[in-house]
Amino acid sequence: MSGIRTFTIIKPDAFEASYTGPIIEKIEEAGFKILNMRLERLDQNRAGKFYEVHNDKPFFERLCNYMCSGPIVVMELEKSNAVEDFRKLIGATNPENAEEGTIRKLYATSIEANAIHGSDSDENALKEINFFFT
Ligand code: UDP
Ligand code: MG
Repeated sequence: MSGIRTFTIIKPDAFEASYTGPIIEKIEEAGFKILNMRLERLDQNRAGKFYEVHNDKPFFERLCNYMCSGPIVVMELEKSNAVEDFRKLIGATNPENAEEGTIRKLYATSIEANAIHGSDSDENALKEINFFFT
């Protein structure tokens, strides 16, 4: 059975562009309940830990710099089938490939500055929630 929790980050590009309000509205309209939310700023060390699975990728260093470039909003969310439904709501990693109406299609500017994070499995959702909220 799929879980009821997922985790999201409104990334620095979207926060800077004042898209936090519209993004939260879309999330709530889609039936997600916000269980926990905080504004914060990552440092290189924490960004590197959060994206550890990508530390062998060519884009890793740029990604960490970008994630530290300004404030972010982190949220724990609840809904049935949370992980899969949230990934559908945000759309493909590259906004050029994202479906119409998805958060990335609406608010992302590039494959890197793609507005929002969403957990990719129940296991990672729990890890990410614990990373920010315990
Ligand atoms: N990313 C990037 N270049 C790429 C692929 C990914 O800068 O070629 C960034 C982008 O911000 C993405 C994050 O790295 O959201 C994590 O990548 P992942 O493949 O996990 O995509 P996601 O799960 O966020 O859709
Ligand atoms: Mg991912």
